[in-house]
Amino acid sequence: MAQIYNFSAGPAVLPAPVIRQVQSELVSYKNSGMSIMEISHRSSLYTDMEAEAEENLRKLMRIPNDYDVLFLQGGGTLQFAMVPLNLAQKNKQTGFVDSGHWAQRAIEEARLVPGVKADIIASSAAVNYTALPDVPELRQQYDYVHLTLNNTIEGTMYRDLPNVLHGQTLVGDMSSNIMAQRYNVEDFGLIYAGAQKNIGPAGMTLIIVKHDLVEGGTELPAMLSYAKQAAKHSALNTPPVFAIYVAGLVFKWLLEQGGVEEMQKRNEKKSAYLYDFLDSSSLFSSPVKKSSRSVTNIPFVTGNAELDQHFVAAAQENGLVNLKGHRSVGGMRASLYNAFPYEGVQKLVEFMERFEQSVG
Ligand code: PMP
Repeated sequence: MAQIYNFSAGPAVLPAPVIRQVQSELVSYKNSGMSIMEISHRSSLYTDMEAEAEENLRKLMRIPNDYDVLFLQGGGTLQFAMVPLNLAQKNKQTGFVDSGHWAQRAIEEARLVPGVKADIIASSAAVNYTALPDVPELRQQYDYVHLTLNNTIEGTMYRDLPNVLHGQTLVGDMSSNIMAQRYNVEDFGLIYAGAQKNIGPAGMTLIIVKHDLVEGGTELPAMLSYAKQAAKHSALNTPPVFAIYVAGLVFKWLLEQGGVEEMQKRNEKKSAYLYDFLDSSSLFSSPVKKSSRSVTNIPFVTGNAELDQHFVAAAQENGLVNLKGHRSVGGMRASLYNAFPYEGVQKLVEFMERFEQSVG
């Protein structure tokens, strides 16, 4: 089969050696004669695998011991509700940075939790989310302040955390740039991420939460309670075994590659290559303000919706697949997660150059 470069925003490309390993041991995991999908989550085959995955993740993200690591289900979307259910119990006052589509979904869900008030402390709606909003000095202490570190659809990303948030309990949605960029876990009370972009297959959601914070929420139904999930080490019910197994292989692969710093370096290089082209092209352009640009999700447009469609179809025929932008914004989007290779970006830029000449 001809080489395909998969620019999907999620579920997204996984490292090729990981896919090959999954294939080679799918029928018999560690010579057990059973697939990883066929074993009990109470067996040592599973618990050893899960413990190793967690240990490697702790190394990669430098997670301090006073933080719990949870591998749950329900995607990033369940966290939009679970975070306020568990962490907005003191004053029921939360603050949100409205930086785009996923931040808005998080705000809507928080407001559905009885009694919880969600203030929008900053928004870039006025510029159509093409830049990150400036966060003003806050006058009140919130139960937590929610920040979407990377806006998957709009293509904006926080390289540094807004200084003014110092002193607040920060909750970070890292669904689309976890381990693509170094953040300091200790700056957050809680971090969450759906797995299906930089971690592994859909079906598992990662939560990293400061242990002090999970002590509330014990009155909640078990599946919705961080405290109850943490007490049972994410095995309160049957965990998503296969997704955790693949994530564990991705963590090992990340460590072998040089960890988060190396990924960050590669992602800067890959994205700079595409941004440089976009900034010099007379056909294509990036709608995003330079200082807000994401390294993992790069939207771009020709300025003509019909031509955009034509480009996406022509790219697809040339093995450059899943470049269509999100239905809410249109245009194109190239997602360059950790497992996406540099040569795929080179191929894309070469193709864009040819396309530009052909319509010029
Ligand atoms: N947050 C962000 C930043 C996302 O990109 C997404 C999904 N693309 C979500 C949350 C929702 O994730 P899920 O589909 O896992 O519920």
